[in-house]
Amino acid sequence: MPRNYNALDIPPILVGSEMRAKMGKFNSLERRKAEQQVKPDHCLLCGEPQTSFCNSHTLPAFCLESIAENGHVLSTADAIGTNIVESSIGLNRAGTFRLVCRKCDNEFFKEYESRSSYGRSPTQQILGKIAVKCCLSELAKSRRDSAMYGNLAEEYPVARLSVTANARDLSAHDDERNLRKALLAASGGNRTYKLFLFRRLEYVTPVAFQTMVTPIVDLEGKLINNLFDPEPTAVVEPLFLCCFPMGDCSVVISFRHRRTARFDSFDRQISSLAEEDKLLVLLKLVLAYSDEVFFAPAIGNVIRNEAGIGALCRMNIDSLGVRPRTPNRQLGLLAIREAAMSKYALKAMPDIPNLLSPDYSLG
Ligand SMILES: [Zn+2]
Repeated sequence: MPRNYNALDIPPILVGSEMRAKMGKFNSLERRKAEQQVKPDHCLLCGEPQTSFCNSHTLPAFCLESIAENGHVLSTADAIGTNIVESSIGLNRAGTFRLVCRKCDNEFFKEYESRSSYGRSPTQQILGKIAVKCCLSELAKSRRDSAMYGNLAEEYPVARLSVTANARDLSAHDDERNLRKALLAASGGNRTYKLFLFRRLEYVTPVAFQTMVTPIVDLEGKLINNLFDPEPTAVVEPLFLCCFPMGDCSVVISFRHRRTARFDSFDRQISSLAEEDKLLVLLKLVLAYSDEVFFAPAIGNVIRNEAGIGALCRMNIDSLGVRPRTPNRQLGLLAIREAAMSKYALKAMPDIPNLLSPDYSLG
């Protein structure tokens, strides 16, 4: 049992090759079945009827290409210490979803897909398009998971499966609401977002991510999002986190909805940090809360051997497909909330090397 492993963590499961093949087959069948069930009949951007959808990437193509080796990047599997998730992923499958038509994938995201859009602080429209991508990616996962766990709950009498299906359904509603806000910003209709970090780094980071996370607490452990409120009316506010390596430089961007007070103390804590520490906090957040992070194979040894990186990646609750709004019968709702609040306080998180510093730059 690795250090720092507890009930809130992803277990570092290692299985034999036969079991691995069986699990892989079972998972891909269940996923495909669920994806067919929730496949929309229209493009989520233009509304045109569609029978097939574009294989959209969450990250701009030039980001993954900047860190790939032989067309592959690394997932968090090696850091977690598991072999039931693929560790080396081909670029055509890294962070993809199918919800928009090819025309929209090419045209709607054109400006966002261009390196020249990141030479200076991004506009509200660019932030909107980043957010649209994040929301679509999350929505594809939450809809699929809700259907998949619903199917499994019918087949197997395990209470946790139907609770998980319901929790993922709540997530889908959160994602749909956030998508509507993002589309408004992307169309230039509103100043939706507050950009609180934009850094252009004159080197190539070995990490790429574009994701939305819902932090439970700030750096000191003060509540930001009560993910343990089972009421469907409870609102969670996401934080958008991006690191775009781009050939000879990198850009780090973080923003959130402007009209919310719940990030105020977090903003103040972040702004008081040294520039390199701000990057470290973002990296810790993304490792702890998201599985939408990709590493250059060149730093494979670092992510396999640094205990802190493994401990943070195992804290990734969403990778389990379970939002912690799910009451945990063993721990009790209040106890699990208290445990998560202290564990997710950034100052309590394990130390890790700052992979976004020039020390780890590629090339
Ligand atoms: Zn379309």
